[in-house]
Amino acid sequence: MLRSADALRERASGLREMLSPCRLCPNACGVDRLAGEIGRCGVGRSPRVASYGPHFGEEAPLVGDRGSGAVFFAGCNLACVYCQNWTISQGREGRDLTEESLAELFLRLQGSGCTNLNLVSPTHQAHAVVGALAVAVGEGFRLPIVWNSGGYDAVDALRLLEGIVDVYMPDVKYGTNGAAERLSGVSDYVEVSQHALAEMHRQVGSLAIGADGVARRGVLVRHLVLPGGMAGTVEVMEFLGTAISSDTFVNVMDQYRPCHRAGEFIGLGRPITGEEHAAALRAAADAGLHRLAREGSAW
Ligand code: SF4
Repeated sequence: MLRSADALRERASGLREMLSPCRLCPNACGVDRLAGEIGRCGVGRSPRVASYGPHFGEEAPLVGDRGSGAVFFAGCNLACVYCQNWTISQGREGRDLTEESLAELFLRLQGSGCTNLNLVSPTHQAHAVVGALAVAVGEGFRLPIVWNSGGYDAVDALRLLEGIVDVYMPDVKYGTNGAAERLSGVSDYVEVSQHALAEMHRQVGSLAIGADGVARRGVLVRHLVLPGGMAGTVEVMEFLGTAISSDTFVNVMDQYRPCHRAGEFIGLGRPITGEEHAAALRAAADAGLHRLAREGSAW
């Protein structure tokens, strides 16, 4: 990642300009966050964090020996009806920090020996993340940066992260906008996530993993399979395999459980079946994708 505090401050300043009117993410709410207004993500100018600590539940290439250093940001620019962290994402449980105190969290995770800094749901707080990194590098921070987003990222903001983020780990949640609108409240998810993925891949390429099994740089995509094919898995895999790269590392996730408001939506009130997950894996293979995360393994 960029090691120069001056360069990071300049990028943070560019991201901060996007807060007024706010277009930091594709929702483009237009509120003035610098003046204290709040948009759809529910977070103002200051960073807001729910929790942080070493995390061992991520994909093997991110965890290493001492865990991935996760920082869970409060608020979200999506509103998924089945979100398992909805008290944080939509209830916005968390604590407002300064960029200096956020930098301290980053340094504490490094001090714990974490493999990387894993920014969970950072899209709407990108300005504060980079501002905090500028402070932290001045104090010796050097961990690789993982951008763990919902995939609804603005290309203009991503361009300001070039050279800062080592591993992009976006969700690609949907292959159709109808499902995205009904289940996450955005009507252009497919185009937005496709443009975001292309930009992420342009910056860092396909996932490169060192001889120690730890991810060095690249894109790692997550796709949560929903019951009844609601996530548009076939379309997602076709896009990844053809428009991005057949070398894309993909975690086809089977852990969907009905949470939050899922019970209000027909078809979402049950876990997926083994056959549904197998069909999703077949769709990935049919699209030429050959680097699929499997339980207990990097591949
Ligand atoms: S970052 Fe928040 S306020 Fe800004 S456009 Fe996105 S949802 Fe709206």
